[in-house]
Amino acid sequence: MDPVIDRYARRASPRYTSYPTAPHFGKEVDESCYRGWLAELDPAAPVSLYLHVPFCRQMCWYCGCNMKLASRYDPVADYARTLRKEIALTADALPGRMTVSHLHWGGGTPTALSPDDLAILMDDVRARWDFAPDAEIAIESDPRTLTPEMAARIGALGFTRASFGVQEFDLKVQKAINRVQPPAMVRDAVEQLRAGGVSGINFDLIYGLPYQTVESLVETVKLSAAMRPDRVALFGYAHVPWMAKNQRMIEDSVLPGAEERAAQASAAAEALAAEGYVAIGLDHFALPDDDLAIAARDGWLRRNFQGYTTDQAETLIGLGATSIGRTPAGYLQNIAETGAWARAVETGHLPVAKGRAFIGEDRLRAEVIERLMCDGHVDAARIGAKHGAPADWWRDAEACLSEMQADGLVSVSEGKVTMTDRGRPLVRLAAAAFDAYLANSTARHSVAV
Ligand code: SF4
Repeated sequence: MDPVIDRYARRASPRYTSYPTAPHFGKEVDESCYRGWLAELDPAAPVSLYLHVPFCRQMCWYCGCNMKLASRYDPVADYARTLRKEIALTADALPGRMTVSHLHWGGGTPTALSPDDLAILMDDVRARWDFAPDAEIAIESDPRTLTPEMAARIGALGFTRASFGVQEFDLKVQKAINRVQPPAMVRDAVEQLRAGGVSGINFDLIYGLPYQTVESLVETVKLSAAMRPDRVALFGYAHVPWMAKNQRMIEDSVLPGAEERAAQASAAAEALAAEGYVAIGLDHFALPDDDLAIAARDGWLRRNFQGYTTDQAETLIGLGATSIGRTPAGYLQNIAETGAWARAVETGHLPVAKGRAFIGEDRLRAEVIERLMCDGHVDAARIGAKHGAPADWWRDAEACLSEMQADGLVSVSEGKVTMTDRGRPLVRLAAAAFDAYLANSTARHSVAV
């Protein structure tokens, strides 16, 4: 491994899917604050919707999500009933009928819903919002539990994109993470969705898993590429057993070390490039004619809680337990515990747990960090001028970047920051130079590579 990269790779930093980051959310953002933010929205502006379903049939040992095991359907049906109420409560709090540009069902496993419940919920959404003609309507699914009936219903409901957690095809790795799904099972699921009319397919792959090797991951890339997903996300496994108890099922001793992780990440990126995928941002890849690749090429890629996106809406309405939303005034997060979330909704409350209003330089720093994370370069001076900041507001960040600059990982000149090819995998560390809150934060983050 490049010894310079090795020195940085073990440093932890946020993933910057928001700024300020989630550890800085607080109780000062409550229901009445959120109602005020919703009432102030421009009804003519587009919105995005995110709907969270926390249920899964089986626990993957690597999982870091907020999920619940559901061996019976009753709790899922109860959850769906409450979600209908939250949809109605939230739509009532808006200043008018608004238009959706992106809708995303995440989890957990949203396809743990029955086809009828998914259809009822989508009908509710369509009854309260219009959809842009080119709206992206996406859902996460699980090849192990996706039924042909559900695949057909997803297509009939107008979904345009579906994503699967593929992670790794090697059986030993799959057993070690408690997620066994042979390539043929994934292929069947993809084919069923495409036959149903879902044109966009995303795969998530993970490096750094137990027993994983460069060879097994490259083979996984080849098997995946043969199914021609339009987008592939390649994430590093974040082993945080002090936060995710299920990860205690994974022994530290069978995890690849930092050097092996870096080798896996770069081998997978090379294999994806060889299969015709374009690298996007920190960890995404797409076929060259996919919107995500076009957005990256033309400078309008965005980053939000779902990662890299083409979504341009400034407002993201989160629905369901633990979901995170954003308005032009700030971020908010729903109650995570499903019982407490349901009690709040059932008594007529928007179930806000916490959030963060934008103050001071937050919007400026958020834009600089987002552009750096999306484009690999940013003109902090130009963005500062747009926000009315002092001409040299970026000097402190420049000082923080001096070590990376000396190591040839980033170039900095008069507020213009550009990641070098060598430094690109470390863009999170460069973005951290613009994070005004990180120095005083006690939050623990995953390592940079
Ligand atoms: S399917 Fe996804 S959300 Fe569910 S346990 Fe596995 S990784 Fe977690």
